[in-house]
Amino acid sequence: MSIVPFREILADARARKYAVPMFDVSNTTMIRAAVEVADELGSPVILGAIPPDVEGASLGYWANSALYAARQVKVPVCLHLDHATNAPDCLRAAECGFQSVMIDASAKPFEENVAASAEVVKLVSPLGVDVEAELGHVASGITGAADGGRSESGALKDGDTVFTDPDSVVEFAGRTGVAALAVSIGTTHGVYIAAPELDIARLREINRVSPIPLVLHGGSGTPADQLRAAIAEGIAKINIYSELTAAWNREMLAFLRERREMTCWFSVVCRTPDEAMRRAMAEKIEMFGSAGRAR
Ligand SMILES: [Zn+2]
Repeated sequence: MSIVPFREILADARARKYAVPMFDVSNTTMIRAAVEVADELGSPVILGAIPPDVEGASLGYWANSALYAARQVKVPVCLHLDHATNAPDCLRAAECGFQSVMIDASAKPFEENVAASAEVVKLVSPLGVDVEAELGHVASGITGAADGGRSESGALKDGDTVFTDPDSVVEFAGRTGVAALAVSIGTTHGVYIAAPELDIARLREINRVSPIPLVLHGGSGTPADQLRAAIAEGIAKINIYSELTAAWNREMLAFLRERREMTCWFSVVCRTPDEAMRRAMAEKIEMFGSAGRAR
């Protein structure tokens, strides 16, 4: 099975009401952990690359490592560029063997978001690559969700959240041709200082009209019961990053504080952080109902 188109992975999740985990993975260690944990649990998995990790020549190292990893396992895997901000980056990823890209023009006004998303679809679809776009805006930061709205210029300040308007979903999907839609229903990127409160009624309305599968960003730290409710109402892909780095960094800090040995072998230093990160991945796969769904 191994490498499977993005839209196939998401279609199965939507039809059978589970969410595929997309782990943003920064290096070979994280890539390998994601495919091996998914394989152990019989779960499809999406390997996400965030732009800082695939700048310049890093893209080739990342893509080849991920393609190699995907071929070592039996479960469906696809490579996804997360949060690209421009079309050339999307094309580079498509040419390096990615199955999908996310173009994030969600901070721009509706018409500009449509234009940017449609442009990327036109560019990469001849290569068989699918596109995810975001409608509404999932903010970044350390606070809980708040419906901040737009400034007078129409641009969003960093940290502002705009909930997805169910009335614009059909038009956005139709005019752009994207394969999946990231929605803003109350999550935030990063870590929470207060638990988010997802707008499940809004999600239900979006899912009722949406012709394409829905994606939840800012999954890290969102309480399990709310994630399960979101999956029941149509979320087919959930993005996780902060909880992975938090699990790894916490163990690394504890190890170095205890050992105080700066020449310790890298493989030894990384052992407990890697195990903690793998546990965090496994926990998400179980929580999303994705375990055992590979076929
Ligand atoms: Zn995101």
